[in-house]
Amino acid sequence: MSTLTVLMNAGPWLPVPPNGYGGIENVIAALVPELRRRGVRVVLATVGTSTLAAEDRIVTFDDGQFAQLQRPYNRAAGVAAAHMHQVARELQRRPEIDVVHDNVEVWGPVVLSAGTGAPVLHTLHWDLAKHPALYSGFDGGGRVFVNGVSASQLARAPAALRAHSVGHVYLATPLATDADQRVRPPKGDHSVVLGRISALKGQHLAARLAHRVGRRLVLAGPIGPYHRPEDLVASGDAALSNPDVRYWRESVEPFVDGELVRWVGTVAGAERDELVATARAMLFPLRWEEPGGTAAVESLALGTPVIGLRRGCLPELIEPGVTGLLADDEDGFAEAWRLADRLSPADCAASAAQRFTPSRAADEYVALYHRILTRGADL
Ligand code: UDP
Repeated sequence: MSTLTVLMNAGPWLPVPPNGYGGIENVIAALVPELRRRGVRVVLATVGTSTLAAEDRIVTFDDGQFAQLQRPYNRAAGVAAAHMHQVARELQRRPEIDVVHDNVEVWGPVVLSAGTGAPVLHTLHWDLAKHPALYSGFDGGGRVFVNGVSASQLARAPAALRAHSVGHVYLATPLATDADQRVRPPKGDHSVVLGRISALKGQHLAARLAHRVGRRLVLAGPIGPYHRPEDLVASGDAALSNPDVRYWRESVEPFVDGELVRWVGTVAGAERDELVATARAMLFPLRWEEPGGTAAVESLALGTPVIGLRRGCLPELIEPGVTGLLADDEDGFAEAWRLADRLSPADCAASAAQRFTPSRAADEYVALYHRILTRGADL
């Protein structure tokens, strides 16, 4: 087949690219231009505030519904279902679509592909090990295939999903393109944790250890729906209904003194890149099995080594002693943080330029699209 038309389902949560936080959306924003450069026609299913160029768009909500994620699960599930329903309806009207690439929810593709001939590739973006029962009846509807964003994520996925797996593709960032050629700013004296503030990401451990090792730490990212410290303060106790805010108040804030440890809210664009590029290390004090680690890949591309607990995808992304250090407990983490300065920013950038470019990811996805189109029945 010469020209492929792919429906890229980015979901209803955030615009693509996102303005600040947004792992899935950043990765789609990196991938789509490279797919189009390869002659793939992309129909982007997204929200009205997305600005990413594509051949065609299916718009479900006017704006992103990320705040719905913070609400009771049934509200968030309702938003996803409403989005999927509209995308499925539009799919019936577009017989030119060859392949659906879904990034939303693994049951969604079964709905999406019903009544159309298009096979679906669903990219897993979450760690699903704790939810096997949710997927026990999953048979892919005969046309749904699954890929992971790391080998460890796939290995932990419920067996019913693994049965339909076509392998894994590491996350990509445009920052990796020519990362080894870019001039890097001098390092400052801070380390950074970049990501949503959440018990899973473990910011409390980094904040506590900052006092032990005497290192400056900047925490960047939203806390639930709050992007700026002043908004969180203004919301008072009402914000405590949000689990991420409770985690922040109870477990992280006691270590935040505004000097050694600071929370700067969500950072975006050049400000984010500068914060990360000038950091001595990006920390991953994980409390879960990180499935893909967009922030880790970005950190390497910006020449900043990764210090983390040996969990999830980190052992696959990091070359220990070269691009980062991995620890098994708090003592080891503190020691690794102290040693981070010995790692070479140039080695980190070189690794990212080789492994995490959108160009590499696009090649792998185009190969997967063709594979599920031509050999779908044998997979
Ligand atoms: N991010 C950002 N600004 C912030 C916090 C996060 O731009 O203040 C971005 C970060 O660069 C990454 C994404 O949000 O691209 C987070 O993705 P990741 O896969 O690390 O986390 P998750 O999707 O699990 O929340």
